[in-house]
Amino acid sequence: MAPLILIVEDEAPLAEMLRYNLEKSGYRTQVAHSGEDALQRVAIEPPDLAVVDWMLPERSGIEVCRSLRAGEETKRLPIIMLTARGEESDRVLGLEAGADDYVVKPYSPREMVARVNALLRRSDIRGSATLKEYAGIVMDLEAHRVTRDGNPVHLSPKCFRLLETLIDRPGIVFSRDKLLGRVWGGDVFVEPRTVDVHIRRLREALEVEKGASNLIRTVRGAGYALDERR
Ligand code: CA
Repeated sequence: MAPLILIVEDEAPLAEMLRYNLEKSGYRTQVAHSGEDALQRVAIEPPDLAVVDWMLPERSGIEVCRSLRAGEETKRLPIIMLTARGEESDRVLGLEAGADDYVVKPYSPREMVARVNALLRRSDIRGSATLKEYAGIVMDLEAHRVTRDGNPVHLSPKCFRLLETLIDRPGIVFSRDKLLGRVWGGDVFVEPRTVDVHIRRLREALEVEKGASNLIRTVRGAGYALDERR
């Protein structure tokens, strides 16, 4: 699905122009005319990026920005601040409030779309960092190293791939077939039972200390999940 851009702008013609240009470039959009409205919309459907006007009625763009940065779900949301002011001190204030980029009005729609593209690209790279972490397990995908609570975990390449798949979506149950597809590339000569064998090895490897909790949940008839809630 195309990324969703939230436009927070109280002046309808400006919001409309931005919406038109972003949609023409393939994005989905939502328009909020006040900060309050913006925060409500974000709670319903978190956008992939927000363009926030500084001058809004009641809650200012800066306040909206701070609220978004304080929210668990939105603390990493890419934000472009939009403003008629261009002074250095305002720019600094905007960036300090948590905006990632800053565009001064009047701006060209093409420039705005380019900024949106660039910021989404940057945050994609940030999001796919080479470190994955869950419940004390840290995977370094580049160095192919795994630790649990600081203790090294030694994994075969297949077990590593298995853990990498599970840690991507903690709590979600992966069926054997799905794991076969992700880890063994859908090799038709690998039996589903092979998955069980590797899950057992992975469990043993993750037991770095005696009595360490078993983080891999078996769901009878469904598959496996990495899960610390039990
Ligand atoms: Ca405004």
